Amino acid sequence: MLTTQVKTFNNYINGEWQESVSQKQFVSVNPANTEDIVGSFQASNEQDVLAAIDAAQAAFPTWAKTSPSKRAAILNKAASILEENADQYAEELTREEGKHVTDAKNEVIRSAQTLRFYAVEGQTITGETFPNDDPDMKVISEKEPLGVISVITPWNFPLSIPARKIAPALITGNTVVFKPSSDTPLIALRLVEALHQAGIPKGVINFVTGKASEVGDALVNHPAIKAITFTGSTAAGEDIHKKSSFTTRTQMELGGKNPLIVMDDADIELAATLTINGGFSLTGQACTGTSRVIVMKNVREQFVEKLIEKTSALKIGNGFEEGVKIGPLANEKQLKNVLKYIEYGKEDGASLVFGGEQLTEGQYKQGYYVQPTVFINVKPDHRIAKEEIFGPVVAVIEVDTYEEAIQVANDVEYGLSAAIVTDSLKIASKFTKDIQAGTVKVNRTTTGNLMNAPFGGLKKSSTSTFRESGRVGLEFFTQVKTVYIGY
Ligand code: NAD
Repeated sequence: MLTTQVKTFNNYINGEWQESVSQKQFVSVNPANTEDIVGSFQASNEQDVLAAIDAAQAAFPTWAKTSPSKRAAILNKAASILEENADQYAEELTREEGKHVTDAKNEVIRSAQTLRFYAVEGQTITGETFPNDDPDMKVISEKEPLGVISVITPWNFPLSIPARKIAPALITGNTVVFKPSSDTPLIALRLVEALHQAGIPKGVINFVTGKASEVGDALVNHPAIKAITFTGSTAAGEDIHKKSSFTTRTQMELGGKNPLIVMDDADIELAATLTINGGFSLTGQACTGTSRVIVMKNVREQFVEKLIEKTSALKIGNGFEEGVKIGPLANEKQLKNVLKYIEYGKEDGASLVFGGEQLTEGQYKQGYYVQPTVFINVKPDHRIAKEEIFGPVVAVIEVDTYEEAIQVANDVEYGLSAAIVTDSLKIASKFTKDIQAGTVKVNRTTTGNLMNAPFGGLKKSSTSTFRESGRVGLEFFTQVKTVYIGY
């Protein structure tokens, strides 16, 4: 898999693949083997972003008037290109981000489906007709595109998150400037390339890579940017929200500290499986990942035993190896952060009962590997119980009652996803009302969301204005105009 020749990839501005005016590049490395350089990308600066915004602004009037069926045809063609190249793109995604190649392939396919979903849904947007007292007047509302949209995305779902933002933006007639995470620029570029090959007119989608400190401000506070759709950390989201103008719409999908409550009537086998799948899949790097398990006292011992048994069976390794369940962390910052929180767990007095070590020998030598880690005796005020870790660390908190479980579950600043394991319809129904989270599940993992259903968080997990995903995901990208026609 090791590459000897490193290919350089360009920005995409006004329909052309261009070098940055900075004449500087950065490299994307494989987190499973940091000697493997995936590619070299443009270290763009403000001038590149301004050129991209100008192109998007110039393209907007024509794209806004382009028929929905023509826009849909481009999305459908781009979807086919993703599907046809799914094996290659999945390999590239695994090399850049570290997730298992099966998960990577699923992400490529899901992204193609997302383009197709919005190609259809985007053509069903309707307004309303309002009854009024004037017999010679019709009053209707219409939905219009906003203009130029900034799309800023993280590395953990480096193709499917951009797809679920860019597809609804484009189908509703907006133009886009897209900045991906510097950890995963290649797979992001593949989406833009697919749109280019599908015949998207110049300037409608623009792609600029580089550091947030160099390109971030222009993407956020330029007056032509009518909306910013961002997914990433709460700290960056707050910063962007503050810097943007009050006339710029923002949609921020941010961090989480997602709980799984295990009731005393729970199927313990299921509870442990849901914890493994929710807490350790994608090496714990899902925004909806299970990071706290709140367990009733009388089933705690049984649950922890099962959880350790299942955790110890997880194979750690390169995402190209069969059977691997835990890949590397995505970058060095992630590695340091996860190790820091493991230390916090010990310092605060929780008991480390599984994992907790970085793996540095043999096949793990060149990668960012950490064992899946389980802490028990975690108290609700411990840092590992309160703050987002974004790694394979599960904190088990013991409680006596359902009421206490809810109190602990809600006592964090996040509210992205939450789940409960119970056979009681009464408790399950109460939970769906009592819990403060945008996604609530019963007997299912905290992770995963349907393409056709709304997605977003409460509290500091989201701006709580516009939901992403599904039909409702189109709303962020349109504005309502009310029209009075007298005749
Ligand atoms: P990050 O906030 O460091 O970066 C996300 C993107 O924002 C990157 O492209 C980055 O370059 C850019 N960025 C950062 N600061 C910026 C600024 N001031 N101005 C403009 N752009 C800026 O996040 P990350 O490390 O890439 O991703 C992990 C985080 O993403 C976690 O906190 C996770 O919970 C969150 N996440 C949330 C969701 C969700 O839907 N709620 C989904 C996936 C990931």
